[in-house]
Amino acid sequence: MAYEPESRLARDVSAHGGREDDLRAIDAMVEDLRTTRGKVADHKRRIASLEEKLRDDRARIEADAQRHARSLADDLAAALSRQADAERRADEAVKRASDARAKAAAFYRKAIAGLYRVLGLDEGQCSSCHGRIWWVVTKNGRPAPYTVDGVSHFADCPTAKQHRKGGM
Ligand SMILES: [Zn+2]
Repeated sequence: MAYEPESRLARDVSAHGGREDDLRAIDAMVEDLRTTRGKVADHKRRIASLEEKLRDDRARIEADAQRHARSLADDLAAALSRQADAERRADEAVKRASDARAKAAAFYRKAIAGLYRVLGLDEGQCSSCHGRIWWVVTKNGRPAPYTVDGVSHFADCPTAKQHRKGGM
């Protein structure tokens, strides 16, 4: 029984008196080619599907990244705002403390000046720094200059060293 060629190519070769072995070989090659073409088409479809998935993933990742970036920017702005508030409150607290200190110092000086007046101390001026002083007579009978801060002017005069050497 003669071989019946399946492919058109094998039938053409058969029409020109091709041998059966050659016709079988041609049919086998044509079948291989058809199978390979099918595989290539499958691969192309898989590649297209992967590319589409990749595009989706990329779009989702970019959207996520943008959302995170916006969230971070919002957090940063909020943190900076809180920091500015805290700094302002700290500045106000420092100013209040400074005001209170100045008020206390003024009250203290007024009290000391009142005490000097009550004691009838002589008021004068430091010959060196021209600051206000009051002369206190110490228990050994010597006069000593005191300031409105209630301290010895020998100690707080800006030129105290010269006083100790040369006197006031
Ligand atoms: Zn002085």
